[in-house]
Amino acid sequence: MLVLRDVLDETQKTGKAIGHFNISDLVLLKAVFDSARELSVPVLVGASSGERKFMGVDQIVALVRSLREEFNFPIFLNADHTHSRAEAEEAAKAGFDAIVFDVSALPFEENVRQTKEAVEALKSINPAIVVEGEIGDIGVGSEIHEKAPDLSKGLTTPDDAKRYVESTAIDILAPAVGNMHGMLASMVRGETRKRLDIARIAEIKTATRALLTLHGGSGTDDEDLRKAIAAGINVVHINTELRVAWRRGLEDGLATQPHEVVPYKILPFAVESVKHVTVSRLRLFNGMPA
Ligand SMILES: [Zn+2]
Repeated sequence: MLVLRDVLDETQKTGKAIGHFNISDLVLLKAVFDSARELSVPVLVGASSGERKFMGVDQIVALVRSLREEFNFPIFLNADHTHSRAEAEEAAKAGFDAIVFDVSALPFEENVRQTKEAVEALKSINPAIVVEGEIGDIGVGSEIHEKAPDLSKGLTTPDDAKRYVESTAIDILAPAVGNMHGMLASMVRGETRKRLDIARIAEIKTATRALLTLHGGSGTDDEDLRKAIAAGINVVHINTELRVAWRRGLEDGLATQPHEVVPYKILPFAVESVKHVTVSRLRLFNGMPA
């Protein structure tokens, strides 16, 4: 049986990271699954609350589970950024493999208290479920932002990370280490890249020894991503890059066939466009040549 916990623990030894890609339709799921299968690497599918609402909580679970079982392939499902116990428990009951319980907007002590309770509640629904907690500020929204938010005050300290991991019993920590959700318009144009605080990642890893997730990976400098994984990042989230590729592929499919109305003749353009991103990101996360 394929278990997410085992796949995650494996990355602590191999120095590779698991790619986490958000989906909101079958085009994105197809692109993510095809890419992971082509490269024979495990993969995490993410669904944030907007994405879960659009696709249906039970329906996403059924889709991902059917791929895992039919192909005996390590593809797993994460409920990305649940902001309440009710939302997290709904996903756990539906059969998600992992839950990001994110009350990082609350003061630290309150975040600790609520996260600890959430971990207990979620494990009582499914003992094998993997729960991720978040401290620090990494902004909101996997969209195109005009201006960079000032997240410098919200960076995670190694001391806070250690205290948080120990007092909540979370399985994975999502720290703020220079990453942010979404991309700047200049990043979409390829003019600028996000940079990460590699030393901080290494210090947090040393202090906690915990599994670490990097959120908001879109638009990040490739070399920084390699160094971040070497410093102890186990999972990297990419969403906005896929959304940009999805739109471009769709536009391309429509523009090159202006009179076409058959979805399965138009949508493969979007699948291919997204695959271009997912294959290249998975290669980097798994230490394969570009
Ligand atoms: Zn995130």
